[in-house]
Amino acid sequence: MIPKNEINDTLRDYDPKNITVGTIGSHSALNIFKGAKEEGFKTVCICKKENEIIYKRFPLADKIILIDDYSEFLDEKVQQQLKQLNTILVPHGSFNAYVGTNQMIDRLELPMFGNRQLLHWETNREKQKEWLQKAGLRLPKTFNDPEEIDRLVIAKFPGAMGGKGYFIVESAKAFHTKSADMVKRGHITKQNLENIHFQEYIIGVNAYPLYFYSPLTNEVELLGMDRRYESTVDSIGKIPAQEQLEIKVNPTYTVVGNFPIVARESLLPEILTMAENVVKLSKQIAPPGMIGPFCLETVITDDLKIYTFEISARIVAGSNVGIGTSPYAYLKYGEGMYMGRRIAREIKNAVANKELEKLVY
Ligand code: AMP
Ligand code: AMP
Repeated sequence: MIPKNEINDTLRDYDPKNITVGTIGSHSALNIFKGAKEEGFKTVCICKKENEIIYKRFPLADKIILIDDYSEFLDEKVQQQLKQLNTILVPHGSFNAYVGTNQMIDRLELPMFGNRQLLHWETNREKQKEWLQKAGLRLPKTFNDPEEIDRLVIAKFPGAMGGKGYFIVESAKAFHTKSADMVKRGHITKQNLENIHFQEYIIGVNAYPLYFYSPLTNEVELLGMDRRYESTVDSIGKIPAQEQLEIKVNPTYTVVGNFPIVARESLLPEILTMAENVVKLSKQIAPPGMIGPFCLETVITDDLKIYTFEISARIVAGSNVGIGTSPYAYLKYGEGMYMGRRIAREIKNAVANKELEKLVY
């Protein structure tokens, strides 16, 4: 792991009046860039040629560094270029999915907004469970061995796969049949099956509260809430039951987009308290704990029990529903606040108070 004092050394070489906010071109990059521009920062986008069109049509990146492969992101040449621009990197789901948290923790020399240790906790299933459980959240039961399946479960794979390849089964027998079918249809690989785990399937509706924790003010802010739009599960209802049975649909959960939502106000005490507890615990498991955006992925049942099945310790793509504003951000900040901008605002405040070291790891 790159020691914090080395990151601080890099930061000391930076010109604090000339900080560039950088990220990989995908996932929530537009959100991050727009926010950075609105707070007066320069921006740099590290992206693959095929994604360049996004940052040309929405011209929010002052500089684009093209790479052929995500592994190049860690090359000395790219990191030097970013250092010269005084870049603070903002990590998102593509960092976990395409660069890998181990690689990042060990090789990424640049100051990164947030606590990189917590990305490790996020991507390790057992650690994640420990964190959420200790924070007192309600979790679905989990199983590792298919033979233990005794109820409706959702089969999952590690990493930020955005629900790709997930499927539902209710017994070991059904699991063996369905997983073979999923491999045959190319949704998953045989290798995926080695790392599979099962979570009790909670019947309810999803809500993904989008939070921001400021180490400068010690406050957890709720800045938005979303749910996902998933193919194919969100389209099943368009097919009559009879035909569903005939074609043996096996729904999958590939995320295609997100919807903003607003929760019943009486759910907010629990939604806010859950986040506070998660932040409190994060300070114990990976000091100094949470920094910036995070998201709890929940299912809420008809008796209003909130189950948390995952945490993301960084900006999530669902926060893109709030670009411009969201009801919750509006309630706190008035117009024009959203996750990308909130990150940039935090950096700006830290620069003004000479506290940038508190935000980057
Ligand atoms: P992409 O650059 O779109 O391939 O996304 C990078 C990673 O983030 C992938 O693992 C995606 O599954 C995940 N991801 C992208 N968009 C979303 C979203 N709207 N909700 C949840 N996960 C997402
Ligand atoms: P994930 O990629 O883990 O965020 O989950 C993708 C999809 O699976 C979302 O639509 C979730 O609602 C659904 N899901 C994940 N875990 C559970 C669970 N334990 N119970 C019900 N639905 C779940």
